[in-house]
Amino acid sequence: MAPSSRPESITGGCLCGAVKFTINFPEDAEWPPSLNGTCQCTMCRKHTGSILPQNCAFPTANISPPLKENPAYKIYKSSSFAYRGFCSTCGSSLTFNYDKEPEHTEINLGIIDEDVLCGKRNEASAWDDEYGHHVPRIGGWGKDICSAGEHIYLENSIPGVTDDLPGKKWLADRTDGESFTGKLFDFKKGDSKGS
Ligand SMILES: [Zn+2]
Ligand SMILES: [Zn+2]
Repeated sequence: MAPSSRPESITGGCLCGAVKFTINFPEDAEWPPSLNGTCQCTMCRKHTGSILPQNCAFPTANISPPLKENPAYKIYKSSSFAYRGFCSTCGSSLTFNYDKEPEHTEINLGIIDEDVLCGKRNEASAWDDEYGHHVPRIGGWGKDICSAGEHIYLENSIPGVTDDLPGKKWLADRTDGESFTGKLFDFKKGDSKGS
């Protein structure tokens, strides 16, 4: 069999393990997944506890077992049009869903398992030096899964910390204006082409 350039599935779960799931990539599934981005809106920050929340949308039908069948998985209706999922045992922030798009579930990428994001630890080839214990990794899909090309709510970005991201950026949501690629804080009032 030819070496696979895409996984058949990846796994993820919450901190305590009460919520575990597999995301399947059948042949017709997009790889690498493209509905991937960061959001610096205050709601995403509060829900995840991260200053740079990042998630990726996958077909809900490809996530097994279905999250809603897990009694530990709870949802919080965070706005009139969306809800967010979390583990009711350990509090891990897990998902974002639009009410109108049940076919997609956005997974917070930090809950994808370490072996998937970073590769498996190869302890047999490990070594120690003055920096500590080095463990080479085998495989991993982190670059494919986590290369976000879209970033929204840069209006909330932190200068020098979360404003210089590669790819397309928007001040707020994608529907609220044109995207840009430079640094937000290089914009000056009156520079824009628009009136
Ligand atoms: Zn948990
Ligand atoms: Zn957000």
